[in-house]
Amino acid sequence: PNIDFSQLEEVALIGRGGQGVVRKVRYVPTQQFMALKTVPIADSVADGVKSEILMELTALYNCASPHIVKFYGASHLRGRIQLAMEYMNAGSLAEILSTVGRIPEDVLSAITLRVLKAFHYLHVDRRIIHRDIKPSNILVNTAGEVKICDFGVSGQLANTLAMAQTRVGTVTYMSPERIRSQPHSASADIWSLGITLIELATGRFPYPPDVTNSPLQFWSLLRLVVNTDSPTLPEHFGFSPEFHSFVALCLDKDMEARPSVTELLWHPFICLDTNVSVDQEALLAKQTRLIRKWVATTDPLQREVTKIEA
Ligand code: ATP
Ligand code: MG
Repeated sequence: PNIDFSQLEEVALIGRGGQGVVRKVRYVPTQQFMALKTVPIADSVADGVKSEILMELTALYNCASPHIVKFYGASHLRGRIQLAMEYMNAGSLAEILSTVGRIPEDVLSAITLRVLKAFHYLHVDRRIIHRDIKPSNILVNTAGEVKICDFGVSGQLANTLAMAQTRVGTVTYMSPERIRSQPHSASADIWSLGITLIELATGRFPYPPDVTNSPLQFWSLLRLVVNTDSPTLPEHFGFSPEFHSFVALCLDKDMEARPSVTELLWHPFICLDTNVSVDQEALLAKQTRLIRKWVATTDPLQREVTKIEA
């Protein structure tokens, strides 16, 4: 089910990440918008490895969940790997955060339920660890949908990119056990979710800012994650006890003690506004309206306008 990459027409540049560039494109045969991610692959990477990457990426075709960004196809062209995926018109939580400063707790609760549903699909149904949960990999649209993207199905792609990746000025959502290169599991994603939630709720990455921004400082950040107590939600924002508890559980430094996605789905933080008997459908519909309303106030269309003019 691969699309024809020669039929993609550029509409706008959306963003730039550590590994490549993401563009909004139109697929001419269907006039559908898509997001096209282009990742340069050094010429020195063997053709065998490139085909292996494409092979591994085909696993994405089989990932079908309403909480995971749809995958339309991958191609390898003149030293680049291209991935076509569903276009999410309100962008990532990282982008939104930079315009709104902080995301309110009730919206975060609704977002977290959807991220957990995506985790349930990956961890339980597919036995996949995402490995890169962070605000820029959680996307939203004006229909009020929340979906995650950029997960590690390709070990080869990860290896190839790791060699090219620049570490400067970066932050890490990586769990202590991953930093120590110990065997890790799906619970590494739960840690990353905890760090992500603190950042989204407070507007600040929870480790000291002065330890980032140079390769040397990046290593001290890693040391900090391993050697210091886990970050917690600050008290002065007045968050609910349920939110404090949820984040503390995600950020247990002992991976064995961290709850699984199935356990977290029962946590009161994600069904705050309901009583014991949860009508899932009604809850989801209500939360979707909440997210849609909130997305509208963050003015995602402004993003469209500025990006196209740029
Ligand atoms: P890193 O490279 O460190 O993972 P990143 O996630 O920001 O950072 P990319 O995955 O290249 O890097 O994405 C760049 C930006 O493009 C993202 O921050 C996001 O705002 C936007 N983006 C990515 N995928 C989509 C999509 N499917 N729809 C809409 N916007 C997207
Ligand atoms: Mg990304």
